[in-house]
Amino acid sequence: MLASRLSSIVGSRWVKERSAELLAFDTDALPGYRAHPKLAVFPGTREELIAVVRLLATERVTFVPRGAGTGLSGGALADGTVLLGLNRLTTIINVDGPNRVAHVEPGVVNARLSRAVAPLGLHYAPDPSSQTVCTIGGNVAENAGGPHCLKYGVTLNHVVALEVVLPNGEVRRFGDPYGEADGYDLLGLFVGSEGCFGVATDIWVRLVPIPQTVRTLLADFDSVHDAASAVTSIVATGIIPAALEMMDNATIRAIEASIYAAGYPVDAAAILLCEVDGLEQGLQEDVDTITQCCRAHGARDVRVAATDEQRMKLWQGRKKAFGAMGRIAPALVVQDAVVPRTKLPAILDIIAGIGARHRVNVCNVFHAGDGNLHPNIPYDPNEPGASERVHAAMTEIMQACIDAGGTITGEHGVGLDKLDYMPKLFDDDSLAMMCAVRESFDPERRANPGKVVPVKSCREWHRGTPVSTG
Ligand SMILES: Cc1cc2nc3c(=O)[nH]c(=O)nc-3n(C[C@H](O)[C@H](O)[C@H](O)COP(=O)(O)OP(=O)(O)OC[C@H]3O[C@@H](n4cnc5c(N)ncnc54)[C@H](O)[C@@H]3O)c2cc1C
Repeated sequence: MLASRLSSIVGSRWVKERSAELLAFDTDALPGYRAHPKLAVFPGTREELIAVVRLLATERVTFVPRGAGTGLSGGALADGTVLLGLNRLTTIINVDGPNRVAHVEPGVVNARLSRAVAPLGLHYAPDPSSQTVCTIGGNVAENAGGPHCLKYGVTLNHVVALEVVLPNGEVRRFGDPYGEADGYDLLGLFVGSEGCFGVATDIWVRLVPIPQTVRTLLADFDSVHDAASAVTSIVATGIIPAALEMMDNATIRAIEASIYAAGYPVDAAAILLCEVDGLEQGLQEDVDTITQCCRAHGARDVRVAATDEQRMKLWQGRKKAFGAMGRIAPALVVQDAVVPRTKLPAILDIIAGIGARHRVNVCNVFHAGDGNLHPNIPYDPNEPGASERVHAAMTEIMQACIDAGGTITGEHGVGLDKLDYMPKLFDDDSLAMMCAVRESFDPERRANPGKVVPVKSCREWHRGTPVSTG
């Protein structure tokens, strides 16, 4: 029996087979998809993790790595197969302050790393809004972004080396913690591979100094269109804000009605949360320039957080926006698409029209500086026809983003959710090439099967020996 052999590696407490226990892993943070694992195994050390993957390879069993399960594309769902939980691997193995590198296990929670290195004046820059829960391993697999990635770059820009256990049980090191590795950039290839290329066992990340000075501005507008135009004009000045986030009225109201209320003006059509950081000198000029841009585009008011406490409150509202939406309806679809920044005003008008036509309440909260949209729809799946209307609206929204020259995911990955959009973006040859890359890591296609690239696109997909959980 597979379960007893896994138990002999990790201990019986860390193998779950009962349906009721597995229920907790039936979904990730995107509740539209459900899939029940056959069993779940939770290694407690790197050695156990490698031994588990080797056993699964010997038994030719398919598996799905899972960090905190906060993914928003259905990527960590294991349908009738083995769920490989990584959230016990929470050790920060080493912090090399002088060289600004941290070596961590994959289950380390993002925000915990920044807290741990704060006494050294350092932090880990990629800050997904889920940072108090999501894991660094999950961030690597999704190439996660976050509000401050506008200036600092996404996960890929902060991972310097990875140790990976391939689906066949072999261990490989990609990148170099202290230098540039030669040859093809396999590290870059692995980051964003959504658990389909193997499991990140050890991760070395770059740390950056906590900025000397930070200023956070809140600008509010009577029109979404004006706020979006202000975004383009701020970036056009040459200033690179640390963060430039936008929220519309529906989002503002959801936040202000929740425990995360941040003091946002509930009558504003849209607000911009803009942050600049760096040396004290020159920062006030940036604040003045940004204020002028906002006012030139019709801002009613621009205020600057006066204290750290005010600043944290403004950010809490933004970072907990999805949580706040959870209060207004039983289900929430969170989407993730990108358009060229200059297309923001037009696409927001189009999204509003699609929402009205399908009678759904689209709430927009997004990384405006990156053109990375999150159109979200809270809805009640028990209301007749509601799920169909939400689905139809989201399909049109995604198509509109593609038509605007954009793409289907800025940071949440493809997972299960975006499979159908992949052929809209890539031709058959490109999809087949993606399959070939995947097969060079996982010829038997046992790691996170059925995600990212539509199965039918893999020309050789049906050639291999069928695999099961045994
Ligand atoms: C409220 C909320 C806010 C969010 N905000 C953001 C945001 O601002 N930016 C952003 O980018 N995302 C955001 N997300 C999405 C999500 O938090 C990120 O995608 C995150 O990186 C997922 O991490 P996780 O540990 O939860 O991974 P999981 O959801 O457990 O897994 C995600 C994928 O990674 C794979 N995986 C996990 N660990 C490993 C590993 N060690 N090796 C190989 N594969 C692995 C899984 O198989 C799966 O495909 C948000 C989610 C929520 C719920």
